[in-house]
Amino acid sequence: MASVKVNRSLCSICGKVPSLSICVGCQRVFCTEHVEQHRLELSNLLDKIIFEHGQCKQTIIKYTEESNSHPLMKQINEWEKQSIEKIQQVAIDARKQILNAFGHFASNAITTMKNLTEELTKAQNEDNFFETDLRRWMDTFIKIKKELDKPPTINIRKGGTDVPFISKIIISVSEIFDKSTGRISIKDEGKLIVNTGSNGYGTVRSKGEYSTGKHRFRFKIEHTSSHKWNLIGIVSKNAPIQATAYNIPTSFGWIANNFVCLNGKLYSDFNGYKSDIEKNDIIELFIDCNQHMIRLTNERTHYTHELTIDTILCPFPWQIQLGLYYSKDCIRLLWR
Ligand SMILES: [Zn+2]
Ligand SMILES: [Zn+2]
Repeated sequence: MASVKVNRSLCSICGKVPSLSICVGCQRVFCTEHVEQHRLELSNLLDKIIFEHGQCKQTIIKYTEESNSHPLMKQINEWEKQSIEKIQQVAIDARKQILNAFGHFASNAITTMKNLTEELTKAQNEDNFFETDLRRWMDTFIKIKKELDKPPTINIRKGGTDVPFISKIIISVSEIFDKSTGRISIKDEGKLIVNTGSNGYGTVRSKGEYSTGKHRFRFKIEHTSSHKWNLIGIVSKNAPIQATAYNIPTSFGWIANNFVCLNGKLYSDFNGYKSDIEKNDIIELFIDCNQHMIRLTNERTHYTHELTIDTILCPFPWQIQLGLYYSKDCIRLLWR
């Protein structure tokens, strides 16, 4: 029956001539003339994609070989330029002020010198001077010479350190979430995870993979329901992602109601674990690949709990795994 229907359909481009071909991709039907046109449209799109592919490759090469052309490098260059200009402007203003203040000081000194010239000429001509006069003149010159280098009315000091004049540039390199499944979505360029729709399990995983070293991550519990259900922990990269992350092997972490997850099984009060996560708490997840250990710390209560990870059960590389259940719950991965 279906094939009869297809034969009776009209070409989706001209709508007239009874059509003969159906495109497997878009399910539209075409006459002999327009099936060629449709294939041409598709091959033009492919050409465009191949062009974009080439452009991407060129951009990667350009940014790798001429690192200064990278927009982030340009941002640093701009900060450098602006900081230097700021310093130069302040130096120009300061020189102007010194020139002005020294001008006043110098004109006073010139008057003093004029008076002394008269006194000295007179003393020389009349040969009428004594030790006290010589000492007085000498003292005056010593004073003037000293004051020419450092006029007592002018002072230079540096500004306080409470507000830095040039702000330091700080580069942060941070983790993001880039894989999700179930009732959860990733927002804010990988930084925010939100349970969307009605209650239901959802899981996200980090882009980063960890096999060596120590790594520290901070999360803000931006919203949590009265049940405070969240999963915070790790998983082996090779385990397929699943909405109910707490019951897949290689999952390790902490959940609400004093439960911990060990290799996809839940245990209550394991090693005395007591959940204490509230809305707005900042939670630190510390991953120590060298010691095969993960640690959860609540920065508000300073409560901390460690789990030892058996790397036979949970092989490297590890990824961060977070889970939510209740509607609108969300967790933000902080930059530092
Ligand atoms: Zn046609
Ligand atoms: Zn098609």
